[in-house]
Amino acid sequence: MADNHSPPERRNPRPRSSRRAVPKSRLQPSGSSGAQAPAPPEAGGFRWTRQRREVFALLDGHRDHPTAAEIYARVRENLPDISLATVYNCLETLVGAGLVKQVNFERGPSRYCPNQREHAHLYDETSGEIHDVELKPGIDLHRIFKLPRGMRITRAEISLMGRPRA
Ligand SMILES: [Zn+2]
Repeated sequence: MADNHSPPERRNPRPRSSRRAVPKSRLQPSGSSGAQAPAPPEAGGFRWTRQRREVFALLDGHRDHPTAAEIYARVRENLPDISLATVYNCLETLVGAGLVKQVNFERGPSRYCPNQREHAHLYDETSGEIHDVELKPGIDLHRIFKLPRGMRITRAEISLMGRPRA
């Protein structure tokens, strides 16, 4: 039987389109330690232009899952001449390289997350904040979900909604 196992599709954001993209975080379902260190900026196999470096540093330094427009506003403090299109290009490159995750909730624009650890996203309905939440150690998604026969999970993108307990 031929091995049809192809490498994971490289998914790029489509930030210029107003259409919603599919969530693209790469939460690993199970089996790994969950203790991965963030990828160093030297990783990724692409050239670190000043713009990419600034966008990544900004995301990494303030992990509040900003939108591209918010990133644009912040990065202009250091790079006043950068364009919004360049910010989108930087984000697309960083997402494509696996250094940044694109996070989508039902409404609203894509947000960006540099957290390389396995995690899901919890949207606080009262504040609009998005929290990174990690799976508890030892949780195997195959034990939580009733999968169709013969299927296994290769990647998970988990979005949760919540609010503070009353
Ligand atoms: Zn995140």
